[in-house]
Amino acid sequence: MVTDARFATLAIRGSYDHAESANHRGSLSEPAYLTTAQHFESTEAMFAAAGDERDDWVYARRGNPTVRYLESTVAALEGYQVDAGVSATTTGTGMAAITLATSAFLSRSVGAHPNFVSSSACYGSTTMVFNNRYGDERGVDVRWVDDPLSIEDWARRIDDDTRFLYAESPSNPTVQLVDIPALGALAREAGVPLIIDSTLATPALVRPLGLGADVVVHSLTKAAGASGRSMGGVVVARHDLRLRAQPEELTADFAGYLRSGPLRDMGSVLSPFNAWTILADIRELRGRVDAMSAGALRVARHLEASDKVAEVFYPGLETHRSHGIAKRDMWLVDSDADGGPAENRFGFLLCFRPKGGVEAAYGILDHFDLIWRANNLGQVKSTATIPATTTHKQVGDAKPGKAPVPPDMIRVSIGLEHLDDLVEDLDQALEKS
Ligand SMILES: *Cc1c(COP(=O)(O)O)cnc(C)c1O
Repeated sequence: MVTDARFATLAIRGSYDHAESANHRGSLSEPAYLTTAQHFESTEAMFAAAGDERDDWVYARRGNPTVRYLESTVAALEGYQVDAGVSATTTGTGMAAITLATSAFLSRSVGAHPNFVSSSACYGSTTMVFNNRYGDERGVDVRWVDDPLSIEDWARRIDDDTRFLYAESPSNPTVQLVDIPALGALAREAGVPLIIDSTLATPALVRPLGLGADVVVHSLTKAAGASGRSMGGVVVARHDLRLRAQPEELTADFAGYLRSGPLRDMGSVLSPFNAWTILADIRELRGRVDAMSAGALRVARHLEASDKVAEVFYPGLETHRSHGIAKRDMWLVDSDADGGPAENRFGFLLCFRPKGGVEAAYGILDHFDLIWRANNLGQVKSTATIPATTTHKQVGDAKPGKAPVPPDMIRVSIGLEHLDDLVEDLDQALEKS
């Protein structure tokens, strides 16, 4: 096995090497194990597998070979150039990954009244889980940070009952970053984990575990599964988390603990068919995110120059509040591998507000002929939506933790169509509205 392989090679090969293929009659791609349970050659073998004495999968809620191929690939990508052991556990959706990773730290047995600190620039459903499921239903104290770039605001909210720090970077939809190294240092000092939702960055641009985060969550529904066929999620964690008041069975290999305990019990597993489609998509992650990000920067600059546009949100623009951190932390992986300078890439998602307000925004969305009106992102097809009335509508205006999402803001996810066609579609829609 090539152990010092580069990112693109790891994405293509994962753990499925020549030797593994020989176990599958030389099949060039990973077989899809669309089956629920494993047959054993003897009672003894069955007992050994059930007792974890041999590495088997037994029953598809406990594991599945195709799902494992995806998990080992994601672990290799998120763990690329990270100076620690890294493992990954997949889930049925991104929200299942977020719920699984966060709820594991909220047990009441470790403290009287658990709290956690989170950036308020979060995906709508994440805000719902934190406020409603954890706050209202379980009495967890949710401490929101409205300005996630203020490390002092984070520090002030941490106390002895704090269980974790949580942030999305870049955030959906306003593409704000957090200072992962600074938050990581803060978390280490407090003995709590830093959990980062890195869905919008993807490991092709940022590997938070190498910057100081302990746990990374992703919606694989987005750029990882870019052909748009499957939902999925993943929790990736570094080994040997140094946490206050958490048992070693949880800290030694957190992702492995989730797979063999909470996930197996609660059952929000990824279907092997979905794992198989995502595995096909994730192979080309680096090249795709490179092309989509280069396109997004050009579109952002084009919109910024338009007299019909009031404001553009994109971390690659000098006007964006997170631009400095984005320049420091968002790099196309291995872009410097052939001796050239490393290249910044700022992701495929951008937002803009037209000059005519909400009416104009609705008009522009209606006039897209090529860009799809759809609530997904990171797809090979460019998509657009108005987050205030779709993905963030459920959160409600008066709730704490609601990231400010302007009602006239259009979110565009740049896909792989020819850029000139995308720019023409944007221009004609802006012209007509
Ligand atoms: C979409 C998304 C999620 C939720 O993922 P699902 O696969 O839809 O459950 C979480 N975080 C971010 C940043 C997202 O964009």
